[in-house]
Amino acid sequence: MLGEAARRLADAGVESPRVDAELLLAAVVGVPRSRLLVLDEVTGDDAVRFEALLAQRADRVPLQHLTGRAPFRFLELAVGPGVFVPRPETEQLAGWAMERLAGAREPVVVDLGAGSGALALSIAHEHPGARVVAVERDAGAIEWTRHNATTRAAAGDTPVRVVGGDMTDPGLLRDLDGAVDLVVSNPPYVPDGARVPREVADHDPPLALWGGPDGLDVVRGLLVTAARLLRPGGWLGIEHADQQGGSLPALVRAHGGFADVADHADLAGRPRFTTARRADG
Ligand code: GLN
Repeated sequence: MLGEAARRLADAGVESPRVDAELLLAAVVGVPRSRLLVLDEVTGDDAVRFEALLAQRADRVPLQHLTGRAPFRFLELAVGPGVFVPRPETEQLAGWAMERLAGAREPVVVDLGAGSGALALSIAHEHPGARVVAVERDAGAIEWTRHNATTRAAAGDTPVRVVGGDMTDPGLLRDLDGAVDLVVSNPPYVPDGARVPREVADHDPPLALWGGPDGLDVVRGLLVTAARLLRPGGWLGIEHADQQGGSLPALVRAHGGFADVADHADLAGRPRFTTARRADG
């Protein structure tokens, strides 16, 4: 049955058909994927539900919308229509952030464009002393930020402050001017007109994706905000597209006020995020 299901998903152009079929079946039956091997047969309601999910996945609804969950580092976040699905490649930026925070007692951290809260909530989870602010401008997405923040706080993590606002707004978080130790962001950076998979084009919120002709329109405003919020010596980490490993560091250098500008690759070896330190004085 799984073989047949995987073939259907493959025919529909799904990138990882076997894994997706297994994860959908595991979600229906309520067992971890590793236990599927010992499953004899799926019948009755389970078979009907599996069929319905397969049909949606074949129609390129994101796997994470069908399971309602997205894993990110040590967390599992609730996701669905209206919020950007967190991606594994963003985990590296989170890892870099944890390294920057190591040893800091009560660092102030701002996540610009928080979406599901993957970065902000991971930082609060892994660095409990951090005072984390999650900023989101999309009225639909911020419902998910709030939901996940509430869930994590109830599970015992340090509460994250969720703020509705635009990362390019000069009035954003004025109470934190010059007081922030770390700004992280996975901003909208896809160049307008770029081809993205159907799952992304049809289901991720446009505000989380599109960044103007070169994809860096929102980032330009983000840099102004980050330079204002960061204390001297504070760090900035911004995710970017494969093709922006040269242009984004160049933009940060040209902006002024930042030192130690560097670019980092993800596990697949593709340029993935740029980091810099707020220059002193
Ligand atoms: N990496 C995302 C994608 O695959 C885009 C993320 C973004 O614009 N922040 O579509």
